[in-house]
Amino acid sequence: MGQGLEFLFLGSGNAFASGRYWSSFLLNGRYLFDASPVVLPHLKQCQVAPDEIEAIFISHFHGDHFFGLPFLLLEYAEMTPRSKDLTILGPPGIEEQVRTITRAGFPNVLKKNKTYQETYRDLRDGLEGEVAGLKFLARSVNHVVEMECFGFRVQVGGRTVAYSGDSVLCDALLELADGADAFVVECSCWDGTCGPHLSPNDIRELRRRLGPKPTFILTHLDGGQKELGIENALVADDFARFSL
Ligand SMILES: [Zn+2]
Ligand SMILES: [Zn+2]
Repeated sequence: MGQGLEFLFLGSGNAFASGRYWSSFLLNGRYLFDASPVVLPHLKQCQVAPDEIEAIFISHFHGDHFFGLPFLLLEYAEMTPRSKDLTILGPPGIEEQVRTITRAGFPNVLKKNKTYQETYRDLRDGLEGEVAGLKFLARSVNHVVEMECFGFRVQVGGRTVAYSGDSVLCDALLELADGADAFVVECSCWDGTCGPHLSPNDIRELRRRLGPKPTFILTHLDGGQKELGIENALVADDFARFSL
């Protein structure tokens, strides 16, 4: 059975949602998946110390998924001097991208001596590794042509979690989620189709092909909420916590 999985959603919206902040979530209090622009104030609102994060997985370089990093780095530079190592994993060029947006917003952060070890790791399709006690597999998923986007399959405490990142329906999603305990999956509209994203019909297709096992947690949602009638599917909300 393994240990429990603890999810905290720091946001649950797509880039445009009314009444939802942009998506990111914390797993087991230590692993952050995407860093939306509101990640820092929302961690604090949830009484999570910002330096408890040990690894940050960035799925792709759309602003709703990584523009929160300069605020976190500012926090570590000015307010919460951290001592634990921090690893930031993302698409190729992650370190330079983070430096670019940090230089634009808070240039002093880059000039300060760090109180901790900060490590960047470039992802590639099929990369497997381990970070802060968590095993991961990264797969390229299909989102937009101008940038590479990744989904993840991670194992911690004998349990398995998949995360779609932003993607349309593709085989990599099925491989990532097959047999997982939980699948955090984007669903960017409540009906019809939603551009380079998954729709409720795509989620139904994923359920049909994956079978009943992975508990779906839908996120990256549009404003509001509708009953989708999908078996074993939870719907995230800003500040929602799930224990599985
Ligand atoms: Zn997005
Ligand atoms: Zn995106």
